[in-house]
Amino acid sequence: MEVTFLGTGSAWGLPELGCGCRVCRTMRKRGEERTRTSLLVRGKETFLIDCGPDVRRQLAGRLERPPTAVLITHAHGDHFLGLDELVAFRRLTERSSWCPIPTYATEETWRRVEEVFGYLLGNLLEKRIAFVGRALEGLETRIVPFATDHGPVARGSVGYIIEEEPDHSLLYTSDFQDLPRDPPLHSHPAILVIQSHWLHEPVENRPHHMSFQRALEFIRRWGPKRVFLVHISEEYPVHGDPFPKGLKGTPPKDPLIDPQTGRPYPPPLCHQDWQETVLRIAQQEGLAQRPVVAYDGLVVRL
Ligand SMILES: [Zn+2]
Ligand SMILES: [Zn+2]
Repeated sequence: MEVTFLGTGSAWGLPELGCGCRVCRTMRKRGEERTRTSLLVRGKETFLIDCGPDVRRQLAGRLERPPTAVLITHAHGDHFLGLDELVAFRRLTERSSWCPIPTYATEETWRRVEEVFGYLLGNLLEKRIAFVGRALEGLETRIVPFATDHGPVARGSVGYIIEEEPDHSLLYTSDFQDLPRDPPLHSHPAILVIQSHWLHEPVENRPHHMSFQRALEFIRRWGPKRVFLVHISEEYPVHGDPFPKGLKGTPPKDPLIDPQTGRPYPPPLCHQDWQETVLRIAQQEGLAQRPVVAYDGLVVRL
């Protein structure tokens, strides 16, 4: 199995449009970008997990034929608004041999996706329902959706377990703040791709996301061999930042303390900051894994 991290950013992408905060300024200076989080998984079959507004650029030069299936985790724009970009694959295919792309989502998610993209059903996309805890039908690869809690505005959200072989699985959480119950794992996942929206859990988790601080609990519980962090946002507030407003003004609740300084770990300003901070915290917490902060274009082989 080969996993390509097509995008690793939050709903608005980073650097954020028009934002002058230190994170966005630093990223611009370093030429860094995080597009909307999405994954391409290639094995016996090819899967596109989530399909946000950046998908055209993300797939350029990476995929010449339509994926075996598209797996949508929930009905937020950063996870499905690129679906009609897949029309390029249909245009490249003889009309008589074209088959709509099987596209899986829960019924609740489909209800909202269909309001926007109902016109694509039957010609570009084939609507398939993902049932929680039940392997997706019509695929060779065993893929099991599990329920995630991403707040009241994203009912029907799921993560997916992709099992190429029974003890060779990839667990993808997508956006979540909690889980109603643990995913049905047969063994420790070979790869866990988990959301890490912030480094520290904020005082108020209004957008219902997962911080790295809280993700530590899930990493310990599931014991994956390798961990990759995605859906990275900017931290807040950054000391001396001229734009500490709105969500960026929400401080961390009970931040992890850096033993070297006796103060909370400062918000990571760029990819390197993120990776170094995460590795120090992992070591400090006695984590068996060395989590990798994924970046756009990272390719990992199992
Ligand atoms: Zn999202
Ligand atoms: Zn979301």
